[in-house]
Amino acid sequence: MKCYVMTLFPEMVEEIVKTSILGRASQKEIIRVKAVNIRDYSADLKHHKVDDYTYGGGAGMLMQAQPVYDCYRAIAEEMTTENGGVTPEHRVIYLSPQGRVFTQEGAVELAKSEYLVLLCGHYEGIDERVIEEIVTDEVSIGDYVLTGGELPAMVMIDAIARFVPGVLHNEESALGESLAGNLLEYPQYSRPEVWRGKAVPEILLSGDHAKVDAWRKERAIERTRTKRPDLYARYLVENGLKE
Ligand code: SAM
Repeated sequence: MKCYVMTLFPEMVEEIVKTSILGRASQKEIIRVKAVNIRDYSADLKHHKVDDYTYGGGAGMLMQAQPVYDCYRAIAEEMTTENGGVTPEHRVIYLSPQGRVFTQEGAVELAKSEYLVLLCGHYEGIDERVIEEIVTDEVSIGDYVLTGGELPAMVMIDAIARFVPGVLHNEESALGESLAGNLLEYPQYSRPEVWRGKAVPEILLSGDHAKVDAWRKERAIERTRTKRPDLYARYLVENGLKE
């Protein structure tokens, strides 16, 4: 998978991509993340300005359409060249608090993409005309407003990458985790067996895998019911336990 991140702050993206599991996946070229600086496409060759006042007044500056559009055109051209003259199918995702909220299901779906282009806004956002022209999806990472789209873009890439084959050592771990099947993950314990007077549940030491599985399922259901009643309601409906 190749992800292009259109940004005014490429260093924010590059730092994260070098680190931990994403770093390892990038080194192996299982995922390739390229930060593309929108400022490099400014028509203002002297100051590389990319923002201006909003028509109609109001506080703050807006990212202009031209540099964003030209940046996207350059990315499209690169993808086309890489694919022998054919522009590959790709989504252009604008990170925005106005978008539909990103979920684990969304991550699974996007992990099937060969190419993704993520557009990060800043300041008051981006001139609406270029959003209409190039964007296929608007995605939010939650109902709060951040100063820029870089952290949301990296949140998405991290969540998506976990479903790209080969990124995690043990692919099982992405599938059995919290949110899979609308359940949160069961509680887990590591050594020592007793810590500050608290013992690991005995059943986990029994070696009886069927009993361990049943215990884990019960705990997963119980903690979903108490911690995330909304998810629990979905679990009941999807498993035919409630209309
Ligand atoms: N004026 C915009 C509005 O009210 O919709 C908010 C602009 S915000 C200060 C600047 C940029 O941060 C946005 O263009 C977007 O790229 C990013 N951003 C902020 N909050 C976000 C969120 N919850 N999810 C995704 N991107 C977000």
